[in-house]
Order: sequence, then structure tokens, then C-alpha cells
Amino acid sequence: MNILDRIDRTASLFPDSIAHIHREQRMTYKELADTSDRIAGYLAAHLENDHSPVVVYGHKQSEMLSLFLGCVKAGHPYIPVDSSLPSGRVEDIVTGSGAHLLFAAEQFPIATSSCPIIDPDELAFLFGSDEYGHPDPALRVREEDVYYIIYTSGSTGKPKGVQITLHNLHSFIQWAVPLARIREGEHPRVLNTAAFSFDLSVMDTYIALATGGTLVSTDKPMIANPKELFSALSSSGVSVIVCTPSFADMCLADASFSQDLMRDLKTFLFCGETLSNRTAGDLLDRFPQAEVINLYGPTEATVSVTAVDIDRTLCDRPDPLPVGRVKPDCDILIRDASGGAAPDGERGEIVIAGDSVSIGYYNNPEGTAKVFGPVNGRPAYRTGDEGYLLDGMLYYCGRLDFQVKLNGYRIETEDVENNIRSLHKVANAVVLPVYAGGKVTHLSAFVILRDSTEDTSLKGAIALKKELRKQLPEYMIPKHILFVDHFPVNANGKIDRKALAGEVR
Ligand code: AMP
Repeated sequence: MNILDRIDRTASLFPDSIAHIHREQRMTYKELADTSDRIAGYLAAHLENDHSPVVVYGHKQSEMLSLFLGCVKAGHPYIPVDSSLPSGRVEDIVTGSGAHLLFAAEQFPIATSSCPIIDPDELAFLFGSDEYGHPDPALRVREEDVYYIIYTSGSTGKPKGVQITLHNLHSFIQWAVPLARIREGEHPRVLNTAAFSFDLSVMDTYIALATGGTLVSTDKPMIANPKELFSALSSSGVSVIVCTPSFADMCLADASFSQDLMRDLKTFLFCGETLSNRTAGDLLDRFPQAEVINLYGPTEATVSVTAVDIDRTLCDRPDPLPVGRVKPDCDILIRDASGGAAPDGERGEIVIAGDSVSIGYYNNPEGTAKVFGPVNGRPAYRTGDEGYLLDGMLYYCGRLDFQVKLNGYRIETEDVENNIRSLHKVANAVVLPVYAGGKVTHLSAFVILRDSTEDTSLKGAIALKKELRKQLPEYMIPKHILFVDHFPVNANGKIDRKALAGEVR
């Protein structure tokens, strides 16, 4: 059943069921259905029926969900823009998208914008007014239409808008709901940690809405205040957590992050960055009832396309964890340097083909042509990630663009990171290349120790290097080791390597 029909069905069968919780705010399925209808009616009356995207600006307010659904009910894809993004980036997205309208669930910070803005007061009026009650269902986005556009961080230059169709989204939901171990008829509570402008949030939002469950949102100030976060987690009643490994590491730093804090928790769904053996192992120790699932995928292939249940045996092996087997309607291909298919066990670029693959970047034919293009007659995306397959299991080896040459040696900085992380004293590590005159001169490592009372002086760094030398050749040993107590994270909840790069020496 279509996701919009499923939500309508929940709204008519269980009108008082809670669709979204954010702090004191609670929105029922009936309210979600009614308010999104009003937004759709308003759009039908004020915008041409031209499938032009609509920007939805805000953070974790329930209104965000009403606006997302209102847009697609009127046939317009939505562009989620989180209010924590810097205003220059917001402006790039609004201008670059050519959107004809922007809904602001909170005050929009830019005085002059390229399109009309419906501000929070006008929105409150629209939500409460009957004037635009019953939009024509024929207007709704159809299977091949674009449902949302998410702008990716993009390592350089302007952000790129990834277009995801309703078909892409359906394919994802159908695969992801059983992964979350949700039983037929269960209305789970699902934790949302990522901003709605990051596609990880698509996983929690639509798992919750597709099952008639409740999405429980954390927000930025909460995440910055562990006491508040833990109090919210303990009362959340969530059975499913969708987050980055960085989020879990931050929580694990507190000994109370355990099954006692969240008694109903049964599934961790991870995506977006490397899940270390240690993080997964610690979670299995502290949450004996929970499963830890590692998923892999880029925004361009609708959140994630592979998944694997990480059990104790996998955690205890010395090798990095696998990222999973591909979903049934997609293929993973490994491309070697000459563009041919790499044999099993050999590294190459990960290419994703099939129903999850986006139709391309919005208004960006050159960008699209560079990385999208059919393979064996199916839409495909070249990820720029390096990996290998072994009996159908995918292993992720880092970004191809994290590959550096130092004095002629090819080094994967993530390879060095994994080795540092495997050291007994280390909780987490990031390794960055340091450039001078366009060439890599050395590597620097940022390291978080498991025990904050350990030696973080030069002596401590030397001792760590000595340990590392047992595992790595000399040319891979970072010249500088800087001990930190946390890593900065970006708006997507991943480690902010750019911010760390500003501190390297
Ligand atoms: P995004 O489009 O922001 O979701 O970022 C996608 C990128 O995150 C992928 O291309 C990978 O480089 C990385 N990524 C996603 N999932 C994983 C994973 N399970 N392990 C390691 N890296 C991942």
C-alpha cells in the first residue's frame, strides 16, 4: 500500500494514536492527516500543478511532518532544510532549487529570499483553518514522481539535491520495516536523532509512519545536554533507534546508557559512517535484548541498500565489520580501476544498481552524468566508496577520496584509523592527511582514549605510536597524535572532518 494511503488508514483506524513526539509536543495521526490536507489544499490553490519543489525549513517540530506530507499530497516534492544549517548554505539550497515557496516552521533567518515565505504565524493559521480542507487525491505524487529532494553535504562546492521518487521510497520502506524487527500489527516507537535534512532521518520517520508507530524526536539542544538527552531517552519508550555510530559513542561514554535506561529497546539501526567492533560490542554488552544492525548506503540510493546483523562473533573478530548484503531489488557491483568487474575479495569502487537508485541530482545534468548511468539496463550510481564483496557480503574500505599518497605510498586514512581504534586504550580515532604545497607531508591523528585519566602527554602519544608500529608499516604511522575528549559533529551527526582539519598540524 502507498505510504500516504497507509498514513490515512492509520488516521482513520486509530485517529488518536500519536504520530510524533517532540519534547512536550504530541501530534496524533488525525492531526497529521488533517493538517497535511490543509497544506496540500493551500498549495493546490496557490501553486501551479507543476511538480516544483517546496522548501520546508525548521528543526524537529511536528509541523515539519505535516508540511512534508502536505507537499507530496499536492504533487510537490519537499526539500527539508534544517535550521541548524549555516545561513549561507540555506541560501544556496533555496536559490539553487528555484523553489516557488518556502514553509518556515520556525523563524526564517534570511531577510531577502528568492521565494515567498509562509512564516510560523501564517502556518499556525493555515493549520487551524478549514478553508483548504480537502485536496484532490489525484494531485498526489505518483510512483515515478519525485517525493523529496535532499541536499547532500558534497565535499566541495555547492550542495547537490538528490531526487528520490515515491518508487525509491517504497522500495526502501518495504525492505527496512522487517529489518527493524517490527511485528505485524505492532505500533513501535522509533527514535529520531538525525536532522530531517539528513537522509538518515528518512529511515526513522518512514519506519514509524508506515507502521502506524510513533516517531520520537531528539533535538540539537537536547543532544548537547547529556542530562536532558538521557532523561528524554529513559521516558521515550522506544524500541528502535536509528542513529550514526558517533551518536552511540557519545551515549556510551555515560555508563547509564544501557537496557535499564531503555527497557523496550530491541533494535539499533546504524548507517552513515563506520561502525567499529568496539562500539557494536559495547552495545551488545549493555543491551542484551537488542540487535545491532549495520546498514550502508548513500543519499543517492535512498538511505541504505545493504544490511547485516552484527553478532558477538563478528564483533570479536579482529577485522572491520561488514556492511551487509544488498536488498533484493538492487545489485552491488565492484568496479576495478579499469572499469571492469572486480573478482570476489578484490577492492574497487562500490556501484549500486536497481530500484533504490535516484533519478539524479536536481537541476544538475553534469553532476548527474558524472556518477549516474545505467548498468545492465538498470539505473546505477557510482558511489566513490571503496569496498569488496565476499560471498555476497559487502565490506566498506573508506572513501576513494580518503586515499592519499605519502612519499609514493598509497594509504587509506581509514585503514590507519581502524588500526588505532583496535588498540586497547583507544575509544575512537580520526586520521587526516596534512598538506603542504599540494602534497601530503604527513598524517595526523585525533584520538579519544577510553579512560580519560590515561596519559595524554607527549609520552602517551609516543607509547601509542609504539603500539601502532606493531600493526602498521612506518609510513602509515601518524606524525602527530592529538588527544581530544570528543569529536565535533556536523549537521548530519557524523564526525566533522573539516572542522578537525582546521586543527591539524
Ligand atoms: P550520506 O549520503 O550522507 O548518507 O553519506 C553516504 C556515505 O556515508 C557513503 O557513501 C559512505 O561513504 C558512508 N557510509 C554510509 N554507511 C556506512 C557504513 N555502514 N559504514 C561506513 N561508511 C558508511
